[in-house]
Amino acid sequence: MAIMDTKRRTPPESFSNDDARWQAVVRRDPAADGVFFYSVKTTGVYCRPVCPARQALRKNVRFHDTGREALAAGFRACKRCQPDKESLAERHAEVVARTCRLIEEAEETPGLEELAAATGLSAFHLHRLFKAHTGVTPKQYAATHRVGRVRRELAQADTVTEAIYEAGYHSNGRFYESSTDMLGMTPQAFRKGGRGKTLRFAVGECRFGAILVAASPEGICAILLGDDPDKLVRELQDRFPNAELAGGDQEFEQ
Ligand SMILES: [Zn+2]
Repeated sequence: MAIMDTKRRTPPESFSNDDARWQAVVRRDPAADGVFFYSVKTTGVYCRPVCPARQALRKNVRFHDTGREALAAGFRACKRCQPDKESLAERHAEVVARTCRLIEEAEETPGLEELAAATGLSAFHLHRLFKAHTGVTPKQYAATHRVGRVRRELAQADTVTEAIYEAGYHSNGRFYESSTDMLGMTPQAFRKGGRGKTLRFAVGECRFGAILVAASPEGICAILLGDDPDKLVRELQDRFPNAELAGGDQEFEQ
């Protein structure tokens, strides 16, 4: 029995011939945006497939793989759909990727205001955009990134104190202040592989692929990003070999 999945996005390869491309233009298919462009002989402009302007006649339309190709053929960029600029979705994805890099490369976790200033958005807008794309806030993402560093050190160092210094914290106090927030448990419990802890987790999809979020009763203890959801679950098991993992919790998945 075939079940229609109406939400599934059309893969780019299905825009490989002119008929498929014209159909995408007719229905202004968002999945086609950025995959190809079309020019209109009678107006001399080229457009994105999603252009809201009045539809041209099929006989006047030509397709181009890139905007550059349309420009080279002598067409001007349409003022409405702006095919010479990045689409809003592309700009948003770029801002989110840039924010991730800023967080990863910073020695001290940057604040939301600082990140917003660096990306040219308001703090409110950045927070909302980041959360919509990744499912987590910039602060949670930063905490996870930092935890990766601490986690490696906690696994290797002889003592918790040594791990704290190796992970770049200059004082014990500073680390302990944020450690439970950051690890979702005390450093000692973390070092014991989460012994005695029940971790609830959920796997979902985000713009970058799969995302796994796990939480102990004290807070979020892992946010993992990757391509393969099964691999993320195995990674969580490796990270907390002594914890009890509880997936498929409807309330938590919300
Ligand atoms: Zn247009």
